[in-house]
Amino acid sequence: MTGDTMTIGDRYAHAASSGNLTPRPDRRCDADVLLAAAGAASSPRRAVAQAIYRASVTRDLSGMPAVVDALADWIAQRARKQLRLIPLESRRAMSRAVVELYVDPACRYCAGRGHDVDEQSMRFTRVCAACDGSGRRRLEAQPPRVAEPAAWLVSQIDALLAQIHDDMARMLAPSLDLRRGAIVEPAPAAPTPDRV
Ligand SMILES: [Zn+2]
Repeated sequence: MTGDTMTIGDRYAHAASSGNLTPRPDRRCDADVLLAAAGAASSPRRAVAQAIYRASVTRDLSGMPAVVDALADWIAQRARKQLRLIPLESRRAMSRAVVELYVDPACRYCAGRGHDVDEQSMRFTRVCAACDGSGRRRLEAQPPRVAEPAAWLVSQIDALLAQIHDDMARMLAPSLDLRRGAIVEPAPAAPTPDRV
């Protein structure tokens, strides 16, 4: 992948795993992307969404226990407004199911293939019932009392991530030409001809 075709998310993934954060005056660098990400994740809920996104691209899951606790709190706050009480362990189970959707989305039963495989012939047999052939984990596979709050969490996280990405795009402008979510680096200036 070249700098020309990287999306904001790709840039963030690269920057998050980069050891080189030296700011460079001539172009946007990894440090700028991370600074923009930090600014965009400026509320506690945004920071949680950003941590999930970061784990999904870097595969570093070390922050996920704290994220599960935070999401469990979100569910508790919503339940309280609905005059409901959901036990902490249930809220954690819902939150874990949601985190897994983002960081490990492949269906656990067919390993993302979407079909069962006949061990003898190594051929695909029927469509995987757990993911309905999509190859991705589905909240519908969870019992409804888990699936409903989990689906609400997903809608919240997706909305926050959309806001964060919009803000990151705006912060990284104007030196970057943003088209349909892709960052296009400005073309390098033509070399000045030697003076004779
Ligand atoms: Zn499946």
